[in-house]
Amino acid sequence: MENPGLAHKATNITAVEHIVSPGVRYQRNGHTGAVVWFTGLSASGKSTLAMRLERQLFNKGYQVYVLDGDNVRHGLNSDLGFNPEDRAENIRRIGEVAALFANAGLIVITAFISPYRADRQRARDAAGSAFHEVFIRAGTDTCEARDPKGLYRKARAGLIPEFTGISAPYEVPESPECIIDTAVNDIEACDRLLLDYVESSVALGDTAELTASVR
Ligand code: ADP
Repeated sequence: MENPGLAHKATNITAVEHIVSPGVRYQRNGHTGAVVWFTGLSASGKSTLAMRLERQLFNKGYQVYVLDGDNVRHGLNSDLGFNPEDRAENIRRIGEVAALFANAGLIVITAFISPYRADRQRARDAAGSAFHEVFIRAGTDTCEARDPKGLYRKARAGLIPEFTGISAPYEVPESPECIIDTAVNDIEACDRLLLDYVESSVALGDTAELTASVR
């Protein structure tokens, strides 16, 4: 998928075909690859639930890995800030990396605010049918009351410019595959809802269809 804001600098690039297909990877793992894309306000519960979901799935034998906002910003995206262009590039890179993980057969759970619909759509386009948008829903009032990192307090004091939900917009998902309401459900209830959703989404379905994609 082309990013209209990004100049293509490489030339003489030809995609190379894998000999190991996604289908055979899925069969070996016992599940499909997937991008489980969490989106929601800061303190809505993305990181907490992503890490707990990773643990639950790992314990059950799934190949799973979390890409978390703060962790990625320390490394891959340490050159990016929080203005709209950098936020878009942050999410573009994550979307591409997540799609590669899914292609490699893993379940990748991403935990990023990802406030803009267009950016989430680009991530969806990168991963195709493996993409699952999960809205980790809690209102600003709930998130501000939690404020586990003190960020809302700092944002209200004017110390953090362009803080999502306070001084920068959050565009609510229009048709997410799954909604987890963390203002209503406690953490254990959210764990169960997420595990059920992911297990049913990555189950190997029609084996005939899967075999057809096996080279
Ligand atoms: P985010 O990654 O979305 O910024 P965090 O997971 O860092 O959010 O913080 C969410 C905070 O809310 C944690 O302190 C967590 O213990 C608390 N919390 C309370 N109820 C829930 C819930 N149902 N689901 C997830 N987190 C919850």
